Amino acid sequence: MDVFGHNGKILRVDLSRRTFEEEQVPEILYRRYLGGGALSLYYLLKELKPKGDPLGPENLLIFAASAVTGTPALGFSRYTVAAKSPLTGGFGEAEAGGWWGPELKFAGFDAILIKGKAEKPVYLWIKDGKAELRDASHLWGQLAAETHAMIRKELGDDRIRIALIGPGGEKLVRFACISNELKHFNGRVGLGAVMGSKNLKAIAVRGEKKMPLFAPEKTRAVVKEVLEAYKKNPGTMGELGTARAVMALNAGGILPTRNFVSGSFDKAEAICGETMRDTILVNRGTCYACPIRCKREVKVDDPYKVDPLYGGPEYETIVALGSLCGIGDLKAIAMGNQICGAYGIDTISTGTTIAFAMECFEKRIITTKDTGGIKLEFGNAEAMLQMVEKIGKREGFGNLLAEGVKIAAEKLGKGAENYALHVKGQPLPMHEPRGKTGLGLAYALSPTGADHLEAPHDPTFASEAGLKCILPLGIIEPLSALDLSSKKVRMFTYLQNFYNMFNSIGLCIFTAVPFGPLPPNALVDYVNAATGWETSLWELMKVGERHSNMARIFNLREGFTAKDDTLPKRFTDVEQIPGNKKSKVPLSKMMPKYYHLRGWDSYGVPTKRILKKLDLEDVVKT
Ligand code: SF4
Repeated sequence: MDVFGHNGKILRVDLSRRTFEEEQVPEILYRRYLGGGALSLYYLLKELKPKGDPLGPENLLIFAASAVTGTPALGFSRYTVAAKSPLTGGFGEAEAGGWWGPELKFAGFDAILIKGKAEKPVYLWIKDGKAELRDASHLWGQLAAETHAMIRKELGDDRIRIALIGPGGEKLVRFACISNELKHFNGRVGLGAVMGSKNLKAIAVRGEKKMPLFAPEKTRAVVKEVLEAYKKNPGTMGELGTARAVMALNAGGILPTRNFVSGSFDKAEAICGETMRDTILVNRGTCYACPIRCKREVKVDDPYKVDPLYGGPEYETIVALGSLCGIGDLKAIAMGNQICGAYGIDTISTGTTIAFAMECFEKRIITTKDTGGIKLEFGNAEAMLQMVEKIGKREGFGNLLAEGVKIAAEKLGKGAENYALHVKGQPLPMHEPRGKTGLGLAYALSPTGADHLEAPHDPTFASEAGLKCILPLGIIEPLSALDLSSKKVRMFTYLQNFYNMFNSIGLCIFTAVPFGPLPPNALVDYVNAATGWETSLWELMKVGERHSNMARIFNLREGFTAKDDTLPKRFTDVEQIPGNKKSKVPLSKMMPKYYHLRGWDSYGVPTKRILKKLDLEDVVKT
């Protein structure tokens, strides 16, 4: 049977045996899971035994594009990497844009499933449906840019796309990431360390195949309509990138500052998107088929050398290495971003971990004796940069921080746990959950630990105007950011399904509503034109719901319980605005409502009824 939008084929790689196996995937699986996160969960639940070592050869590492990745619409550039996470011990999933996902499809596969461990370092090379493992001994220990250049030279083609790890992944830093084109990151939950544990330095892909479309004319018509909408209302994402949020959040008193002790940073203007545009920005990068071009490419000559090769800091990085550490020096932040990229470590976790250590230093839980002489004080940019490098190298005090805030705090003791801001082991991203009840739920409930992309944030939907774009989801009443009612929990649950569907279909959130020009109904039209499925928004949203339930089951198998659906005490017990009791996150009031709405029991366990309803009985039984 002809398939459209995708190949209908995955590649299995056993690194221990050095074997490959191609597998035809039934169309029904693509339709039920779409690809990305949900398809990865399907294979992980079926094939990965619970309670295994995430850094052992038994862990299953999955790279999955979607049924429509690499087709011509803006935003469908993304792919998922998934495995059991070495940072949280639970479900690990991270998405990246760029070109690697589409190129995997052009090379003939929709996903790669990798098990085992290579005897010595290797990289995987896939070209036009053929795969081989090549020696990577000479690449082991190399920084990301050197690795990238050496593989391209070796394979003799500048259009090869490469997903790779740096020394951080090789040294099993628990928040090591995977990058493609040196600028796009599967950033969170430590999947770079899983690659490192398998002695897999990189995956290079190249292909000539174009994805067949069911209705090319209709596909083009939907793309044209969305592009015209974007041209009429381009907003500031292209001009300022994600850093456009800095000044607005600072004005609202919710810019994470000094390890979330404050929400106002006196040097916010020095690190904002406008300042970056006017000083160190040299180019706007982009992803496959996207006209928005929100990615930053920066250059600094003095006092540091920062090369645009590594892109530039996003909002999350600017805040994590900046205000969260009390640092208002954009050049130092750009340098920190480059070191993270070179060593292949997640900028959010790196910044949060250093901010944690700075607060421990302030409280004298650690001193220069622990840090090897580094004065790890808030505001000390040189100390931040030294520590980023030490984490990437697992050197000195950096070796402890490379374990992540949860383990580092446990090892330090003396009350350090109070300053380790994480959920399920994953450090908090750069958004303040106090004062946004839906974001509080997102952090507490995300199966990968604190994740700011679990659902869109509350203030967007506090007005009629903001609601307009998501009316087809059945969310028709505006709700205040502080609302605690069942209506807010319902809104969050629907939006969580919406974003989980994005992570499965490989869609960038900045190209779709509420941030971008692609509305839900046009998304459905596009998927139908590309695949010929005659699907609906209802069916696509079911994929998001399946994703949430499967991820929950994965974590329950690993020993997580309802007690893990929580936030650090700083957010539940301490007011963000002193004297304003409302500026704490009253999670306990909302959690039972959420479980009930999801069809889970009072312990947060999906019931048989909901699993049956979602056609998941067979998947979760095994
Ligand atoms: S909006 Fe930005 S991140 Fe998203 S696809 Fe376009 S360039 Fe990439």
